[in-house]
Amino acid sequence: MKHALRTALLLMLVLFAAAWSLADRPFDTTPDEPDTSGDPPSPAVQLGKNDSETMLRVLRGEVVEQMDMATYLVGVLRAEMPASFEEEALKAQVVAARTYTLHKMQNGGAPRHPDADTCDDITCCKAYKDWADAAAQWGASAEVYEQKLRNAVAQTDGEVILYSGEPILAVFHSSSSGTTRSAGEVWQNDLPYLQSVASPEGAQSVPNYYSVARFDAAEFKTLFLAAHPDASFPEDTSQWITNMDCAADGSVRTLTVGGITLAGTELRTILSLRSACFTTVAAEDSLTFYVTGYGHGVGMSQYGANTLARQGKTYREILQWYYTGVSIGEYPAG
Ligand SMILES: [Zn+2]
Repeated sequence: MKHALRTALLLMLVLFAAAWSLADRPFDTTPDEPDTSGDPPSPAVQLGKNDSETMLRVLRGEVVEQMDMATYLVGVLRAEMPASFEEEALKAQVVAARTYTLHKMQNGGAPRHPDADTCDDITCCKAYKDWADAAAQWGASAEVYEQKLRNAVAQTDGEVILYSGEPILAVFHSSSSGTTRSAGEVWQNDLPYLQSVASPEGAQSVPNYYSVARFDAAEFKTLFLAAHPDASFPEDTSQWITNMDCAADGSVRTLTVGGITLAGTELRTILSLRSACFTTVAAEDSLTFYVTGYGHGVGMSQYGANTLARQGKTYREILQWYYTGVSIGEYPAG
């Protein structure tokens, strides 16, 4: 009997020690074994109700890593939103990122990487930052921030933004210019849940909310001609940009540059402006752009989400603010 008790105590000690050793390194996000074989990973995607049950193939650089959704989302959160943001804003960001990833997987994935469900290229999928890089950036706040992000993922485990029962294209941007923009105004197709809504952030809460980009006339001409070789520029720079058609928030829908009519978003790309919400002033030998906000302006504004969180809104209220007519639930439903 004594022997049995001793064994039981010993077993408890071993279990405690195991738990402690795990607790000592709560931030180790290294996947078990990165796939470096070069063989295409299994094409079957395992979708679970919980993040830990959903396995993803994540292309990072040239390597496809297998990781569960929870691990992936922490990495996305490290890269996509400042960890100093309010907890409810971080949770809204996690649900949006989870939804975006599932939406992509359910709609044929990315043609660039048929053997991976997602990648770390922001021009294709979502940014991803591993723990070592994040820790180096966060310094003394690293462990506190990491725990905050992990909580945001765990507390929204498996939650997805749904429209007609399906995960939405949950796009987001850094800051908008008073209102967000509808998908139809910025891209080819409109979507009922990506409509223009008011957004509360402003110069007081957003760094570089207003930015200025100045181009020498020759520099401007070179950049524009690289994209539109047929453009022609008269001597008078004040005639270079005409016919600016702006939305109510100041975002440029279309304009004419050197005789070529194009979308404001395209000029934004050509000139690397922070957004398509701009005005322009021509001088004799230069053009100056005064820009408001940062990003494409569609879907959730991250700084807007943080402002709403400060006002006491929950992550669900924030998501339903920015994504019109959606519900938050499990996917697949059940
Ligand atoms: Zn991708």
